[in-house]
Amino acid sequence: MTHEAPAPDVAVIGGGQLARMMQPPAIALGLRLALLAEGPDVSAAQVIGAHRVGSHTDLDDLRAAVGDAPVVTFDHEHVPPEHLRTLAAEGHECRPGPDALIHAQDKLVMRRRLTELGVPCPRWAEVGEPSDVVTFGFPAIVKTARGGYDGKGVWKAESEADLEEPFRAEGELLVEELVPFRRELSAQVARSATGEMVDYPVVESRQVNGVCSEVIAPAPNLDPALEARARGIARTVAEELGVVGMLAVELFETDDDRVLVNELAMRPHNTGHWSIDGAVTSQFENHLRAVTGLPLGSTTPRQPWAVMVNILGGAVEDLEAQRAVALAAEPDVKVHLYGKAVKPGRKVGHVTAVGDDLEDVLRRARRSASLLTDGVEG
Ligand code: ADP
Repeated sequence: MTHEAPAPDVAVIGGGQLARMMQPPAIALGLRLALLAEGPDVSAAQVIGAHRVGSHTDLDDLRAAVGDAPVVTFDHEHVPPEHLRTLAAEGHECRPGPDALIHAQDKLVMRRRLTELGVPCPRWAEVGEPSDVVTFGFPAIVKTARGGYDGKGVWKAESEADLEEPFRAEGELLVEELVPFRRELSAQVARSATGEMVDYPVVESRQVNGVCSEVIAPAPNLDPALEARARGIARTVAEELGVVGMLAVELFETDDDRVLVNELAMRPHNTGHWSIDGAVTSQFENHLRAVTGLPLGSTTPRQPWAVMVNILGGAVEDLEAQRAVALAAEPDVKVHLYGKAVKPGRKVGHVTAVGDDLEDVLRRARRSASLLTDGVEG
């Protein structure tokens, strides 16, 4: 007798750690995932049995991985919109859909739309040649509209001499004022296919060399009025752009007490990893609930503080061997490894500590992460 596997409930495109971390809540909720993975042993392919290997830019690979899944969602923002339109025409709900996702793919489209909506952004302009940046004024941040990530495709320009490199890059460019910010914040909401929305506490995210290094939830000493404004911005963006799933709005908290939108991500986000161990419902679970139209779960923190520290590829090459050392040193810090080969600076895992004393929570999370990154206590 042969057993035909039932159709998956959700197809996830992209086999990184975000897809991987959707699997535990999928198991708990009894949702079957399918996956399009970049390779046979990428992070999510290790844990999602129903995976196909292929490219997210190839329509036939997308079709093969999606199969009969009614819902398609994403580990990243790089699927071409025209392929999503084709999948939609063939009867699959893409969540988020191409008309929402474009705002996370293209920073010019995003700036235009948010400005129309009256959402506060840094002063910005589209630029075609270096003289446009000179007219805009220095210091400035020049960005490629598409394809940037983790600080790539972002240049600080103090004078005309700094414009050579960005203008060698391919594609459209925009310029933004260099925002004098106190810190970076992230506001996340889940919006269900039914229109229901829940928002998470606003968190502080600390970056090193353009890469998220640690996240504190909730953001310490955040003025309640600014927190309300940040949550309101995230809800407005989710609603107006028709996002379905998780939305992260990366924000600058300025020296003069404003919040300005930096960029959008329409998927679970690094600044929400704390929620796995720190909130009643994680961002991964709420993402799956949202894209399948299930009722959303509470975003309330389980403890007053959660600190997430990324494990970036460093001196430790054998993460699995070092895992026991970190767990022995800090048994209550939760270690999440992504099954990725260690390369310098690559995100290969994270740790989360929770508790009621922020200094203690920070110390424990950093100690564990440092043992997994550098092999020594930081
Ligand atoms: P990426 O797409 O690589 O994440 P971002 O647009 O988020 O690019 O920029 C990366 C980092 O550069 C931000 O986290 C922030 O630290 C800095 N940055 C970006 N835009 C500005 C700006 N307008 N003013 C000041 N710093 C900025």
